Amino acid sequence: MRSESSGQIAYIGLGSNLAQPVGQIKAARLAIASLDSVRELAFSSLYRSPPMGPQDQPDYVNAVMAIVTTLPAEKLLTCLQAIENDQGRVRKGERWGARTLDLDILLYGERQIQLPHLTVPHVGIAERAFVLYPLFEIAPELTVTGVGRLAELVDKCPCNGLERIV
Ligand code: ATP
Ligand code: CA
Ligand code: CA
Ligand code: CA
Repeated sequence: MRSESSGQIAYIGLGSNLAQPVGQIKAARLAIASLDSVRELAFSSLYRSPPMGPQDQPDYVNAVMAIVTTLPAEKLLTCLQAIENDQGRVRKGERWGARTLDLDILLYGERQIQLPHLTVPHVGIAERAFVLYPLFEIAPELTVTGVGRLAELVDKCPCNGLERIV
């Protein structure tokens, strides 16, 4: 029997608005689940959302995935960035510009992490409809470490054009 006692439950936000976003999200889900030391626990519906920041780019497709992992958070980030790169992400200077794939660590157990390249819980978590709604769908009882109950955050967050696709 496989033990999960030493693993952490982490939540990953997925987003794409280039090169067939639905396919990008599905491919990323498989790639994440296929990582050694990572197992999928849950995956939300897919949602469509208007872009943040620059408006001259396509709508996004977003989802949230729950995993259990024995990878340390920094190693998980490195693996997620490798998947972004594999799926053709090009890093340009522009903040919140169009991309084939964006993978953010939303939560890692109950940890609060403040490193130059890694902040957990993720900075945008409390205000972003495209994060809160799919997260609530798969983890309605969750409390966001240092912030508060997810149900209350969802209540306070207008859906901002977010639509469930399937
Ligand atoms: P945002 O972080 O506001 O959603 P973004 O996802 O477009 O914006 P990126 O260009 O993908 O930003 O990432 C910029 C940097 O954010 C990454 O190089 C990474 O080191 C850092 N980062 C900090 N915390 C996290 C986290 N929790 N998950 C993923 N990346 C993070
Ligand atoms: Ca795996
Ligand atoms: Ca992001
Ligand atoms: Ca990111």
